This record gives sequence, C-alpha cells and structure tokens, in this order.
Amino acid sequence: MNLLNYLLKAIGRVMLTFSRRNQFKYRLNDLSLWGLKVNNNGNLSVNGVDFLELADCYGSPLMVVNCEKLIKDAKEIQQALKHAPDGSQITYSYKTNCIPGILKQLHNIGIGAEVISPYELWLAEKLNVFGNKIIYNGVNKTDESISSAIRLGLLSINIDHMNEIDRIYNIAKQMDKPVRVGIRLGLSNTSQFGLSIPDGEAMAAYRKIKSLSDYLHFNCIHFNTTSNSKTDMVHSQCACEALNFIAKIKEDNGNVPEFLDIGGGFGVPTTKNMSGFEYGIYRLFGALPVPPDPMAFQGIDLTISRIIMNIKKKCFELNLPVPKLIIEPGRFVTSRSEFLLSRVLTIKKKHDGTCYAITDAGRLSTTFPCDFEYHEVFIANRPHAALKNKYNIMGRICTSADWMFKNRYMPPLSNGDILAVMDAGAYFSSYSSNFAFPRPAIIMIKNGVAHVIRRTESYKHLTAMDTVWN
Ligand SMILES: *Cc1c(COP(=O)(O)O)cnc(C)c1O
Repeated sequence: MNLLNYLLKAIGRVMLTFSRRNQFKYRLNDLSLWGLKVNNNGNLSVNGVDFLELADCYGSPLMVVNCEKLIKDAKEIQQALKHAPDGSQITYSYKTNCIPGILKQLHNIGIGAEVISPYELWLAEKLNVFGNKIIYNGVNKTDESISSAIRLGLLSINIDHMNEIDRIYNIAKQMDKPVRVGIRLGLSNTSQFGLSIPDGEAMAAYRKIKSLSDYLHFNCIHFNTTSNSKTDMVHSQCACEALNFIAKIKEDNGNVPEFLDIGGGFGVPTTKNMSGFEYGIYRLFGALPVPPDPMAFQGIDLTISRIIMNIKKKCFELNLPVPKLIIEPGRFVTSRSEFLLSRVLTIKKKHDGTCYAITDAGRLSTTFPCDFEYHEVFIANRPHAALKNKYNIMGRICTSADWMFKNRYMPPLSNGDILAVMDAGAYFSSYSSNFAFPRPAIIMIKNGVAHVIRRTESYKHLTAMDTVWN
C-alpha cells in the first residue's frame, strides 16, 4: 500500500512536470484566433470595447458574445457547403448554445435549427424558423412535440429507437398529415444513440417505415458520432458506412433517401476534448493536458469539401445518386465568439505553497466544459504577461470540487483581476446552473456597442415556480 502510494506520488510529480512544460511551450497566444485585440491601455478588447469596462459596467461573472466573429464563423461553414449538391442544408445544434439572441443572428443569415428536445422545438417555432429548416433529433420526443413537428412540416424527424415509429405514425394518421422521417444510425458501440446496422435494427426500422408509407415519408439517413473533430476523417468514414447501408436499402427494393445528415462535431482550433487518459491524469494528479495545436486543425472548408469528395466517390462505387447533405454544426459556429469574464476575489496561499485563486465563476455553475476540455484563459489587463505562478483557479460554490482550472500557470494574479475564459460559446450556457447563485447576464457586442441579450437571473426568478408563496 505504501509502495503504491509512493509510486502514485512519483508518477504525479512527473505528470505535473510535463504539464508545466506543455503549458509554457504551447500556450495559445494568438488573440486573432478569437477575433480579439489588445487596446492602447494594454487590455483585451472586442471590436473596440474594453473587457475591463464590460466587467465594471455589467458586473461579473459575465458572458460576452462577439457578434462579428459569430457571423464570420457561421458564414465560413455556410460557404463550405457550396461544395455540396444544391438543396443541402445547415441546421445549428440548439443544445450547443440555446440563447435566443444568438440563435436569432444565425437564423437571420439563413441557418436552420437542429433540436433535440420539445423545448428546443418550441423555441425554434417561436423564433419563426420554417419547418422545412428544422431537424428533430433526440431520445425523448414527447407525443405533444411530435404533433408540433408534424404540424410544422419538419425537414425530418430522425428516429432514434424502434418504438418511436409507431408513435409518430399514429399521431400523423390521427392528424391526417404525412411526415418526413429519417433513421439515426448507431455507428458507435460506445454510445446509446441510434439503430445499429450489424444487429439488423436499422434495416428493420427501414422496413417498418416503408410498410407505413401512407403517412411516413422516409427521406433521411442520419448519424452524429464525433465531437470537436479537427479533420474530416471520422465524418468521411461514417458517411461511407451510411452509404453502404443506403445501398442495402436500394437492394431491398427501396427508395434511396433524399438527404444524408452527417450531424455535428466539427471542431475548432482553440479547444480540445481531453482523451480518457488525459481526463484520468487530470483527475488523479491535477495535471492539465497539452493545449490543442491550432495547426492540427484542417480548416472547415477543406474538411467539408473532403467529406463531399469522399461521399461522391463512394456513391460512384455503389452506383447511388449523390444525396443532398445536412450538417448540424454546433461548436464550430459559436465556440470562439463567446467568452466568460470572471473576477478574482482573493488569493490564498497554503503553507505547502499551493495557491488558490478564488473567483466568482467556477465549474459547477458556469464553466462545466473546463472539466473535460482544454480552454485558454487570459488576464484581461495583461493578456500577454509571462506565465509565472501555479494556481488552482476556484469558483464561488462552497465545495472543493468547484475548480475552473487545476495547477494552471498564470502571470501573478491579484485581487480584482478579470479573467477571460475563451471558447465559452459551446456548452457553457447549456450546462450552466444556478447552484447557490443566479446565472450571469449575456452581453452581445455588435458594431462596437454592447447589448444585453439575457439579463442576470433575479432571486425572484429563481423562486418563481415555488408554490409556498401562494
Ligand atoms: C450535440 C449534437 C450536435 C452538435 O455537436 P457539436 O459537437 O457541437 O457540433 C449535432 N447533432 C446532434 C444530434 C447532437 O446531439
């Protein structure tokens, strides 16, 4: 037991040494990756708006959206779709960042909605997204939401499991309105989603849909298998597997679907998902993984064009017509254009030298993705200052599990410093919680002017659904 402890400690020390070296060597210093600059005062700024002024004016923690960058990234992936057949579609994954003020910007430039819950479907309708620009995925589709989907005439309801088929059919029949459906393929054994090809589920689903074709119009094959991919590799491979399945459908005397929906998972150069190994090491020893290498990122235009090239090649081999493409990007569209400002409340140094920086944000309320992803963080008034001291950067909830970063090298921190956590535009708001504190406001900077797109939650809001008051 003692030996094991000793060994673990020794391994931990080695891991922490590596982590220190990597943080110094591979720090992401290029602010243009996020469309940010340093202004004349030496502070971080977004389109001429100073980060410190934002924190002073609106308080902290604060989520800030850079509208120009949001539109730039959204248009880049829209442009990349020019390689795809006419009629191909891009639907933004609502679960990635479901803030109406952000979604509206995306819908304004013609991007559709990919929803995974009755609430998200309701929101897409409320934001006036046309039914034929909405994809409905997810494992928990209520009868009520299926009725809405049929009424709205969605682009496709993608079936996740067998018993959805009868439910959708019965509702469509009752409403006497046909509905377009797709099949979600479960191409990975490590997740619960979709219908498996080797187990025969996917083919059984197809035959069942075909037997109910008076109300169910089969028009889509869907998969979503990866996250934060830096290249086209996984999408290309999965697309080929999906096309093999479509070829089997064709042999089965079937009609080939109009759309191939290859899901989301398109990555960004500025964050990375920790591997299982890295996550374990971070948990066990607090050793942060190597930062992402922006050069490993293939670029979205090349990624999409390669996927389409591979689809065309495969279709030629299998003698299939090239399907129209649907992509459901989330992270790629919104990750880099939003960041989180939080204030350092105090610094505590323990007798063994461990430094804690206490902030008003934290993993349990605002930065949950920092649990399993690498994120860059800057001090707003000296973003390029040299790294020096090691900190455990903590949150405001009273539990030792509320860290934002463990063993993170930073320039020396002082009380009142504003930290800017990058890439808060993917999954930060979605995972955020009101654990002991209301959730923060969200500001959008557009043409150099700040607009509040979501107000800070109030205490009244937090207790609005409690019945003790009436
Ligand atoms: C989460 C999700 C996406 C978006 O994933 P990103 O990694 O944010 O691009 C797309 N489609 C489905 C079905 C999803 O569940």
